[in-house]
Amino acid sequence: MGWALGERPLAERMRLRDMEDIIAFMQAFVAKEYEAYRALYAEREYAVFAQRRRELDQFFFWFRGGPPYRSPDQSDEEFDAAKAALNNIRPRTLFQIKQYEHPVLGNLYRSYTSDTLSTDATNYFANFFVAYDGTDRRIVAEYLVCLICQGSGEVDEDICPECNGEGWEHFGGIELDLENLGPLIAVRRLQPPDSHAQRMDYVLEQA
Ligand SMILES: [Zn+2]
Repeated sequence: MGWALGERPLAERMRLRDMEDIIAFMQAFVAKEYEAYRALYAEREYAVFAQRRRELDQFFFWFRGGPPYRSPDQSDEEFDAAKAALNNIRPRTLFQIKQYEHPVLGNLYRSYTSDTLSTDATNYFANFFVAYDGTDRRIVAEYLVCLICQGSGEVDEDICPECNGEGWEHFGGIELDLENLGPLIAVRRLQPPDSHAQRMDYVLEQA
C-alpha cells in the first residue's frame, strides 16, 4: 500500500493535485491580467504593453479576455487621459473553483472571480472556465454574472427574464450549457463574496 499516504484514496489525491494546479493557474492569470491593465494605462512604451498583453493571451484558448489592445500610436494627451483609469483597476479576487466532469471537455474548472474594477463590495462578476486542450490548461470560456439577478437566476421568486435562470451570461469562448456541466467533482472555497445571496451559493454547493 505504498501509495496510501494518509487516508485519501489515489483518485481523490489526483483530484486534489489537479485542483492545486488550477488554483495556481488562476492566481497566475489574475496577476498577469493586472500587469496587463497596468501596462495598458501606465506604460508609455507600446512594445512593453504588447508583450504583457501577449503573455496574457497564453492563458486563453481561441479567444481573448482581459484588457483591450491599445493603439500603438497613442498621443501623449491620450496616454495621460487614460492613466487616470489605473486608479479604478485592481486584481480580481478568486472566490472559489468548482470541478466538473464535463461530457465533452473532461475535467472542467469553473472559477468565480470579482471584477477588475475597484468597487466597495467584492462580489461575483466573472466565471472563467478552464479545461485541458490536450497538452496544457487554458481558459476556454468566460461568463459574466447577470446584472439583474446577480447570479441567482431568480427575480422575486420567478425565473430571471434576463438570463432565463442561468444567472450568468456568455461573454467569450465556448458556449456551455451551464445547467448541464456534468457531475460536480470538487469545490474549493478560497474567499467568500460580500453579497449575502452569493454567500449562500458559496457555502451551499457541495461536491
Ligand atoms: Zn439573471
